[in-house]
Amino acid sequence: MKIRILGTAAAEGIPGVFCNCPICEHARKNGGKNIRTRSQSIINDKYLVDFPMDSYLHSLRFNINFHEIYHVIVTHPHEDHFFPVDLEYRRPPFGLDNEGRLLNVYGPGSISQRYPGFPSKSSQEYIKLHLLNAFETYTIGDLLVTPLRALHDRNIECFVYIIESQGKRLLYNHDSGFLPEDSLKIVKDKYFDCVICDTTSGALRDGNYHMGVEDNIQLKKMMLESGCADKNTKFVLTHLSHNGRLTHEQLEKAAFENGFLAAYDGFELEF
Ligand SMILES: [Zn+2]
Ligand SMILES: [Zn+2]
Ligand SMILES: [Zn+2]
Repeated sequence: MKIRILGTAAAEGIPGVFCNCPICEHARKNGGKNIRTRSQSIINDKYLVDFPMDSYLHSLRFNINFHEIYHVIVTHPHEDHFFPVDLEYRRPPFGLDNEGRLLNVYGPGSISQRYPGFPSKSSQEYIKLHLLNAFETYTIGDLLVTPLRALHDRNIECFVYIIESQGKRLLYNHDSGFLPEDSLKIVKDKYFDCVICDTTSGALRDGNYHMGVEDNIQLKKMMLESGCADKNTKFVLTHLSHNGRLTHEQLEKAAFENGFLAAYDGFELEF
């Protein structure tokens, strides 16, 4: 199973669109892995997780032809994870040669609540929205996908996902604080080869809406103790905010000291 993380920032990116805090200033000055775009991943080169406003940039930067993509798995409808405006460009006259190439978008019911007009009537031949139920397992292409309820924005339904492929299992665990009991029960019952960790709060703690490095150390410890992870499990820190007060170098140091991997835009992992 392969995951490539195309965008590793929280809502406003790093540097933040209008921000001049020390982390954003450092990112502008030093560039490289300090520059983070909005959250998106691709699994096995075929399945997108989330579709933020930076998706178009990701398609150009990482040479991914969205014309060839048929599945987008959405965690929740915050704009750094779901930007339906660009999805509508799959229909003519914006996107040509898409006849018979339905793009399937999967996610929680909150997508329809937030965007009742998606997909628009004229796009329905090109885009299909599938609303998923928490805790049910779905076959999406050659993946098995189980949405779990996340502890994130209390006003809308937010998912994290268990994604299985080729006998391997991934926990795509953002955006979320510590998982609620019903989700945690399912996690503790399985073994994970890879865990993608919400690190929005960086050097600070949260656990209620997002997570910081310390929260993830606690999550990792709990997973090791309950046997749903072991020394071979890869834990990856991503979804960073400048408000978490870590440069990429500082994130790497914290990750190295605690047995995590520090993601950056374009980070790739095969397991
Ligand atoms: Zn987010
Ligand atoms: Zn900033
Ligand atoms: Zn969010």
